[in-house]
Amino acid sequence: MTDLEFNQLQEEFLMAEKELGTETFTRHFRKVFGIPCLDFVNSIVINLPEPCYANCEYCIDTYLRKNSIDNTSFLEICEKVLQEFPNAKSVAITGGSLNSVDFNHLLTLIKAYLPNSYINWNTNGVGINEDYLNGISKINHVNLHRNSMNEDENERIFRATRQILSLSKAKELMGDKLCLRVTIDKTFDIDEYSKVEIPLYLNRLLPGTKETDEVFNNTLKKLNISDNVDQRRRNVYLNANYQGVPVRICMGDKLATHVPNRRPTYLNVAIVHRSGIVCGSWFEDDKVIYMPNAQLENAVETDKDISKRLLLSRKVN
Ligand code: SF4
Repeated sequence: MTDLEFNQLQEEFLMAEKELGTETFTRHFRKVFGIPCLDFVNSIVINLPEPCYANCEYCIDTYLRKNSIDNTSFLEICEKVLQEFPNAKSVAITGGSLNSVDFNHLLTLIKAYLPNSYINWNTNGVGINEDYLNGISKINHVNLHRNSMNEDENERIFRATRQILSLSKAKELMGDKLCLRVTIDKTFDIDEYSKVEIPLYLNRLLPGTKETDEVFNNTLKKLNISDNVDQRRRNVYLNANYQGVPVRICMGDKLATHVPNRRPTYLNVAIVHRSGIVCGSWFEDDKVIYMPNAQLENAVETDKDISKRLLLSRKVN
């Protein structure tokens, strides 16, 4: 790191200290995998390494599929991440997919390191059957991604190359943990989904069009929205009810900003990518905190030096 880069980093931390106050700053300033940053991580996201076996037209995840590591290495990295964030409150599993043996093992790991965490699983239901019950028993909430309530139409839009879980089978395996996750596109009709009386998790199509934004806004108007709003650092979630069915809505209207080579000065989430790279971002070259190869050694060594220099200069200041 050049002196100029070091000074910029130092500047970022000084600005953060000003914004947060010294007490909060000191509480969150620590080294994560040897990298000095402000650790605000409450949740860990695990992006499963096997394919999702679908090809939804609107998928924003396609580029992440290119680099997957083998399951054994992936699980080892998940374990390191779970150890690194012992105070994380929730774990979101998303995908990709994972065979039942590795999936059940992953859940055992999560429960071993974070026994009180809230575990949320986002799945399109590809290949899920009774073999997953051991893992499912440790999960609090399952968001089953649906494209239609009609099974044939659902499969047609997923363009899946493997069998997709039917709704009746999902109910049998997941019981009242089940929630339907639906992206509001131009054809979305909340009456179609509310008939089955399963809680709904709705999100906006991104990037949207005038037409899809209109459907999103019209859907909001139909809901009985409660005052119970979840405000995260970068997103807002509304809780509502539609004809007796609980509905949660993600209000996010922008895709995550990509800043290549950004340092993780603020770390709000830890995302384990399918490639084994761990970042505070949905992009594999943004806010990187762990690289599963030789580069890691150098990166961490460098960052150890940086930490030392930062900590020393903080003492001097
Ligand atoms: S199931 Fe999800 S990850 Fe797979 S193609 Fe569809 S939107 Fe993308």
